[in-house]
Amino acid sequence: MKKGLLIILSGPSGVGKGTVREELFKDETLNLAYSISMTTRKPRPNEREGKDYFFVEEDDFKDKIQKGELLEYAQFVGNYYGTPKFYVEQLLDEGKNVVLEIEVQGALQVMEKCPQALTIFLVPPSFEELERRIRGRRTETEDVVKQRLDKARKELATKDEYKYVVENDDVIKAKNRIAEIIKENV
Ligand code: 5GP
Repeated sequence: MKKGLLIILSGPSGVGKGTVREELFKDETLNLAYSISMTTRKPRPNEREGKDYFFVEEDDFKDKIQKGELLEYAQFVGNYYGTPKFYVEQLLDEGKNVVLEIEVQGALQVMEKCPQALTIFLVPPSFEELERRIRGRRTETEDVVKQRLDKARKELATKDEYKYVVENDDVIKAKNRIAEIIKENV
């Protein structure tokens, strides 16, 4: 069976990666599978274990790093986030196109390890709009919001490392563009 395509969907926090990804997954012709990440961040009220993330303690996370069980990992605003390797490999072998929705440091690690990966960077229409979206979430303290905005500025500066840059001014438009890109690359 033909191996699936590894797809990195990255972009700054708040750009709408999750929303665009949800739209992409409605399109069954894309044959997508989502790589569920592991994190030490505490769940938000609407998040579920094993669906949005595997929520773990820092010791468990460090243990996975030590054992080489993560394809990539990064620290982001005080928490660890990483991609379990085993599941991604299994899905690719099954011929699925696997989506990693990850931040920039992790994306750069995967680019090194898997140069054939399809890399897509989502950008907001403007920085002001990004700030509005991050604040609109209302789940974080002002300090965390500031750290996320500061991080976002640095993340936006890495966009040229990606094969494709897609603007998310409208979720459906962004989804359609990414679907086109995936179809061109499978
Ligand atoms: P959040 O706390 O908003 O869910 O995620 C914070 C950032 O971490 C987002 O940019 C998200 O895409 C990213 N992220 C989620 N999972 C992973 C992962 O497994 N690895 C890396 N490097 N980043 C991740």
